[in-house]
Amino acid sequence: MNKCYFCKGKTKIKNLDVDFRWEGKLFVVKNVPVEVCLQCGERYYSAIISKKLDNLVKKQELSNIKPLRVIEVPVFNWQQ
Ligand SMILES: [Zn+2]
Repeated sequence: MNKCYFCKGKTKIKNLDVDFRWEGKLFVVKNVPVEVCLQCGERYYSAIISKKLDNLVKKQELSNIKPLRVIEVPVFNWQQ
């Protein structure tokens, strides 16, 4: 168990849905074991997790593996 860098709260590994970008595309990976602060909710991605996410998406994209599902993402302009 580690401590949060910001609030010194306790952190715990939780399985979360993580969204991130790779080559301009937005991806969501479910059930990623991320270290989360129980107090302020800050997420800590280890280098290993980030690398694994990159590799996972790269591999699946290149071999055309179908995602669980495809979601639409609303896009807005800052100025209305
Ligand atoms: Zn915290």
